[in-house]
Amino acid sequence: MKKSINRRRFLFKCGVSGVAVVGVQALGSRAVMAADMAAVDPTSAQAMALGYVTDATTTDTAKFERYAAGQECVNCQLYQGAADSTVGACLLFVGKTVEAKGWCNSWVQKVG
Ligand code: SF4
Repeated sequence: MKKSINRRRFLFKCGVSGVAVVGVQALGSRAVMAADMAAVDPTSAQAMALGYVTDATTTDTAKFERYAAGQECVNCQLYQGAADSTVGACLLFVGKTVEAKGWCNSWVQKVG
């Protein structure tokens, strides 16, 4: 049995799918837009526990021995901002931004 294709119905479904895809993409990119997010408060419990500082060079190296010069949020694998950004999202601090020059004890070398 041959199933006929209703042209109007086909185009409607394509249109609905297209709108849904564009909508999801817009939401996805919006979710990581640093401009819409508040900065991490370095005095918050989470930030304190992770040793987050807005300037990596001020890291308390006696307390956080993992720190090495040159480690910054911008070259951390969990940083979501662009390489030339000054702030960006971090996968650890959901919905907040961290300073590109910042650091925390969960720093992981960015790959690639
Ligand atoms: Fe910065 Fe990485 Fe720590 Fe996030 S996990 S605060 S990007 S060092």
